[in-house]
Amino acid sequence: MDLYEHQARDVFDAHGVPVPRGAVADTAADAADRARELGTAVVVKAQVKTGGRGKAGGVKLARTPEEARATADAILGMDIKGHTVHRVLVTEASDIAEEYYLSFLLDRANRTFLAMCSAEGGVEIEQLAVERPEALVKIPINPLTGVDAATAAQIAAALPAQVTERAAKVIATLWDAFVAEDATLVEVNPLVRTGRDEIVALDGKVTLDDNAAFRHPGHADLVDERTEDPLEAKAKAKDLNYVKLDGEVGIIGNGAGLVMSTLDVVAYAGEKHGGVKPANFLDIGGGASAEVMAAGLDVILGDPGVKSVFVNVFGGITACDAVATGIVEALKILGEAATKPLVVRLDGNNVVEGRRILDEANHPLVTQVGTMDDAADKAAELAAAGA
Ligand code: GDP
Ligand code: MN
Repeated sequence: MDLYEHQARDVFDAHGVPVPRGAVADTAADAADRARELGTAVVVKAQVKTGGRGKAGGVKLARTPEEARATADAILGMDIKGHTVHRVLVTEASDIAEEYYLSFLLDRANRTFLAMCSAEGGVEIEQLAVERPEALVKIPINPLTGVDAATAAQIAAALPAQVTERAAKVIATLWDAFVAEDATLVEVNPLVRTGRDEIVALDGKVTLDDNAAFRHPGHADLVDERTEDPLEAKAKAKDLNYVKLDGEVGIIGNGAGLVMSTLDVVAYAGEKHGGVKPANFLDIGGGASAEVMAAGLDVILGDPGVKSVFVNVFGGITACDAVATGIVEALKILGEAATKPLVVRLDGNNVVEGRRILDEANHPLVTQVGTMDDAADKAAELAAAGA
């Protein structure tokens, strides 16, 4: 889950990373009040989960509460790269002497963590990374030893000598926040040196690892229902491992690896049928009970883009007969709500009995196909016909 800047600011603050004082506002009048409370010139900042807000006109200085009101009025409702601004963050304006860049992230390709740091932070960081990558220092972080004082100093060495000592402390603190919150990314751009020589995190981006959510009950409060995909929210409420995609063939499988390869074969088969694509990832896991199958089908059939559904199950711990019964029962539970053709491929333990149960039920929406490739082709064909 990505956080809004104001949430990232609060997370940093809670861990002792220096941030400017500030508060969020939903209306222009609120923004004026926040500015009055701060009692300084302020910066009014669009809260959207995308970068480049400054360039899009979503970050503006306001010298008085009246100016803050007018500025917030202009920014609220603005569209920034397809994101509507519902809130602004009002912070005390910092007097910036220099802008740096600092981040920690999960480096999947190298199976480690990575620190990135540059003396040339700010709104042109993407361009810098492309044009002068040597100006963006990258230091791998051993997950077992983390960022000790020596590593922090090594990262801070990317910055001007006058700040390295103080920056190293902020770097170590930011790493502690990264670990404590189970983040996969913490990014500060810009990290600034102010006119009074303070080091402050002026803008923050944080991505939390959803797989660690069970360790952080508080993280649930950070979810913004307004921007969450309604189908993903429904799936989450039912504890389903679901990711919405944009295609036409709904996918249900057991085991993440099988579902991933199902997406591949469906995308491949779809090329022969007008370019239809998988509509989702859904792993119903080992115990494919009727309830779980019904919940999964319910979520997938709720997607208006879905034209057919491919149920691809390899019977293991839960054998095919139990899965077949699950499908039959699920279709009973769903009743009239089940409207799209289902292609079912069963294999593995008790496959003969599983196929017999489905044949016997003889549900008008269900087609059984013996192999994964043929089933993918059939599901793509039906999706193309229904599109
Ligand atoms: P982004 O464009 O979405 O990355 O938003 P930022 O919060 O990083 O703001 C963009 C730029 O606005 C920063 O790089 C700064 O140059 C400028 N900015 C943001 N806050 C302040 C501030 O308090 N004072 C000053 N002088 N400039 C600011
Ligand atoms: Mn920024």
